[in-house]
Amino acid sequence: MTDSFLHKGLRKKLVAGLRSKGIDNEAILAAMEKIPRHFFVDGSFALHAYEDRPFPIGAGQTVSQPFTVAFQTHLLDLKKFDKVLEIGTGSGYQTAVLIELGATVYTIERQRELFIKSQEILAQMNCQPYAFLGDGYEGKPMFAPFDKILVTAGATNIPQKLLEQLAVGGKMVIPVGDSEIQEMTVIDKLSENKYKTSTFGKFSFVPMLQGVEK
Ligand code: SAH
Repeated sequence: MTDSFLHKGLRKKLVAGLRSKGIDNEAILAAMEKIPRHFFVDGSFALHAYEDRPFPIGAGQTVSQPFTVAFQTHLLDLKKFDKVLEIGTGSGYQTAVLIELGATVYTIERQRELFIKSQEILAQMNCQPYAFLGDGYEGKPMFAPFDKILVTAGATNIPQKLLEQLAVGGKMVIPVGDSEIQEMTVIDKLSENKYKTSTFGKFSFVPMLQGVEK
């Protein structure tokens, strides 16, 4: 995997584009300027990797478009050393952004092919999440509570088990809706059984599905 001047230049442009679309979180923009997104997309898409749109990553899934990665990451309001549970590793690109921002990341993917591929790429980049093949609806109770939970697939409802695994004072970012369109939703856990829900506009994610795809 090579990261050429051309790729670096395209990344600068991408970041400038994100800025013009209203992303002003400098730490996130710096992380996205640093991480070679083309490592995470299929070879034939490498030169398109820096356009602000989603791409196929195999198994019928897509890497979220850069604006969406930046937007969700901003909503997560990361603090250094936050323990983050990510549902939907996919390509691993979002995982790399979280790690670059200093988070400890636990990430779950339900598709074996993507689970294996993403771990290979992240390992080559020296990015080390705790990665699991599993059903994100179950979360990872063994490692709970999490300061933050980020769901990168569209859910039809807010999974109760994930709410339980969120730390008091923690935040979950999850797109909620039908299979076409979802509302970006942020849930603040105020106490053991008190939550505050806010929404941040419409997005379109691949669906959050039950079970594991062997
Ligand atoms: N964050 C990813 C986005 C991938 S798209 C990236 O940066 O590339 C969403 C991913 O969620 C897909 O890979 C899909 O297989 C996965 N997914 C869907 N439902 C899931 C579930 N219940 N548990 C874990 N992963 C799930």
